[in-house]
Amino acid sequence: MAITEVDILVSGGGVAGLTAAAVFGSAGFSVLCVDPTPPITDRDAAGSDLRTTAFLQPSQALLDRAGLWDRLAPHAAPLQIMRIVDAGGPVPEPRIVKDFNASDISERPFGWNLPNWLLRREMVARLAELPNVTFRPGTGTASLFTREAGARVTLSDGTQVSCRLVIAADGRNSPMRDASGVKVKTTRYGQKALAFAVTHPIPHENVSTEIHRSGGPFTLVPLPDYNGLPSSAIVWMERGPEVVRLAALPESEFEAAMTERSCALFGPLTLASRRTVWPIISQVAERMYAERVALVAEAAHVVPPIGAQGLNMSLGDMRVLLELAEAAPERLGDRHMLETYHRRRHTEVRARVTGIDLLNRASMMEARPLRDLRAAGLNAIYSLGPVRKTMMQLGLGTRG
Ligand SMILES: Cc1cc2nc3c(=O)[nH]c(=O)nc-3n(C[C@H](O)[C@H](O)[C@H](O)COP(=O)(O)OP(=O)(O)OC[C@H]3O[C@@H](n4cnc5c(N)ncnc54)[C@H](O)[C@@H]3O)c2cc1C
Repeated sequence: MAITEVDILVSGGGVAGLTAAAVFGSAGFSVLCVDPTPPITDRDAAGSDLRTTAFLQPSQALLDRAGLWDRLAPHAAPLQIMRIVDAGGPVPEPRIVKDFNASDISERPFGWNLPNWLLRREMVARLAELPNVTFRPGTGTASLFTREAGARVTLSDGTQVSCRLVIAADGRNSPMRDASGVKVKTTRYGQKALAFAVTHPIPHENVSTEIHRSGGPFTLVPLPDYNGLPSSAIVWMERGPEVVRLAALPESEFEAAMTERSCALFGPLTLASRRTVWPIISQVAERMYAERVALVAEAAHVVPPIGAQGLNMSLGDMRVLLELAEAAPERLGDRHMLETYHRRRHTEVRARVTGIDLLNRASMMEARPLRDLRAAGLNAIYSLGPVRKTMMQLGLGTRG
């Protein structure tokens, strides 16, 4: 049987895998990207990904280099202010409100928010423009054989692919990670997230609002207007059984519950999409690589959706890989390149996973005294000017 030869095989066509294909394709490498599940590129189709991604500044620069930003910019909602609200008192109402304004540290917004289904649509269209990139939905990676000089991957349709680098972007249960024997450490919180879109009468003014009470944060992230009304994407984290109950409520009861949980900051919320449910875990791979394999995105690290870190960390992985590949293209995928990648990413990835784990645990607190302590801590930390600035820069990924 004929063998397909490429520089890079990307296993996984989620948002991370499609970005990897566009990034390395735009840099001139030959790329094959495969995924057994064809991407759903229509908001209202069954199974569409209704999560949104807030791309922070460094991620936007990478998307621009990959020829993606011009396509995405018309659909993006800027994030100018990040607001943190503690509503952990006896009744759900704001008791501490802290604003971070992007203008304190930069002339540009913190980032831009985009729906995941739309990202897939525009990314697939970008790949079609690149003659050196092939995207093959409906086909997955099945097995992996590596030597020091290269990798041989068998696909689910029996095709064999020979490449210098396998980028494993095949998600939290990554088959390529398993095939290469890299172990993971997983933390479970007994928590799930509801992700959906709403409209509301009070405009969001490009403010992203994270409200803490118990069970996890309730976050509203700005979207462009929907059907002529101000609109936001919501991620609502709670204990698993509570999420299952909320997801099954009749629409009007659900709307009342979410309006109460939002402290009615934007007036009554109206559901503007399906409700989708996501399990919440933290996970870190013990190494970011194996022979001829680089782990990126959820194959390497999973975090609860707090502070828009997940995919932004993933694009951080790709920035480093691209830099190393461009500095020495002849070493693409060799041991030296992948060890350097691991050294440059793993410490930062672990630090961010630990930080988000702590934030999530603080946000889950049920007991009143602990919630009061959280509010006091929030107030103290966020009231100190230099600490605030450092935290904003860390959140943005411009330091670290
Ligand atoms: C509710 C929620 C909100 C979030 N919000 C944000 C946010 O605002 N900002 C942010 O940065 N991050 C956010 N995240 C995190 C972000 O969504 C994830 O980091 C990102 O979607 C993961 O992308 P991925 O491509 O790594 O994984 P996935 O989307 O899981 O993609 C993996 C792909 O691999 C494919 N695959 C599986 N097996 C194979 C195989 N054998 N061969 C080839 N392909 C295979 C799968 O079909 C799948 O398409 C959020 C997460 C959640 C749960």
